[in-house]
Amino acid sequence: MKQVYLDYAATTPPHPEVVAAMLPYLTEVFGNPSGIYACGQEAKGAIEEARGKIAELIGAKDDEIIFTSGGTEADNFALKGVALANESKGKHIITSTIEHHAVIETAKFLERRGFKVTYLPVDSCGLVDPEGVKRAITDKTILISVMQANNEVGTIEPITEIGKIAKEAGIYLHTDAVQTVGHTPVDVNQLRVDLLSISAHKLYGPKGIGALYIRKGTKLLPFMHGGEQERGWRASTENVPGIVGLGRAAELALQEMTGEAERLTQLRDKLIDGIRERIDHSRLNGHPLKRLPNNVNVSIEFVEGESLCLNLDLEGICAATGSACSSSSLEPSHVLLAMGLPPEHAHGSLRFTLGKWTTEEDIDRVLEVLPRVVAKLRAMSPLWKS
Ligand code: PLP
Repeated sequence: MKQVYLDYAATTPPHPEVVAAMLPYLTEVFGNPSGIYACGQEAKGAIEEARGKIAELIGAKDDEIIFTSGGTEADNFALKGVALANESKGKHIITSTIEHHAVIETAKFLERRGFKVTYLPVDSCGLVDPEGVKRAITDKTILISVMQANNEVGTIEPITEIGKIAKEAGIYLHTDAVQTVGHTPVDVNQLRVDLLSISAHKLYGPKGIGALYIRKGTKLLPFMHGGEQERGWRASTENVPGIVGLGRAAELALQEMTGEAERLTQLRDKLIDGIRERIDHSRLNGHPLKRLPNNVNVSIEFVEGESLCLNLDLEGICAATGSACSSSSLEPSHVLLAMGLPPEHAHGSLRFTLGKWTTEEDIDRVLEVLPRVVAKLRAMSPLWKS
């Protein structure tokens, strides 16, 4: 049975060219980049080349990119780094109720350390209201953190508008751009962000590597203490193969992003329309237009998302319910609940995320299998009256 992989928001298969670029740094160019001998300096050169490629992808300067172990660390670094370096100015942070756990849990940690956090509500499409951000600002606010696009429902947030507000108020703005970088155009100056999180494995790069963009002049504390790597911002011997892989992934994204976004939008809309036509009592979650080109999140009433995923898996289709990080828990998604979905709709949610190797045949296969699986599960449900 051919596998139909539709969980690209959880992770993307590494691009073969990314793997090829990484291989020499796992074998012959193994030197420590801090070493002054040739194979160390070669590794150091590769790191700097990768830094340049990531900077180019997001319109930043090379020395504004710091490598991290992934999106989670980038989010932790941004929030804790700014909070701890600026607490003498104030201890208030603004974020949203639909952030990834990497932001929400960091915010909760800071609350336990005496910071006050405002969690902004979202509307029924998952949008944060920039006016709500404005109203939440106090003279103690030091940081605003709102994601650029939500990983579960794909809603794209008005970061440019929030950036304008943050700039006028002189408050740092962080955005978790893990789901957008490499998929939609991202420009740190157009967005007016001071900090931006990236994760390589969401853009056809390897797992365990990411980056934080830090605008020049931003006051934050280093995340890891130890050696002088990353100009003292983040100690530890660099993950050279991972960094090279991220760099190559960024380069490929720059070349392929535009055409790919158009192709995926068409497939996405075919899947959304097909599900709505074929399955009664199904609804799209997230914004109909301001959404990632690859995200389809639907609620299907009278079935459980977990049962749907398991049954689709038996047919070779990989999908998710809620975010991958919480798919082992049966709690309804915090994102869907924040958007006001009743728990029974949130429980029946299913996320398909498309990517580079998704074909029209894959979408046809889902549209053939899913109605059948839903009908089977509904027939077993005491709540279903056809
Ligand atoms: N932020 C968002 C929006 C994500 O989707 C993810 C991963 O699911 C992360 C952060 C965490 O990234 P990583 O897996 O690289 O730690």
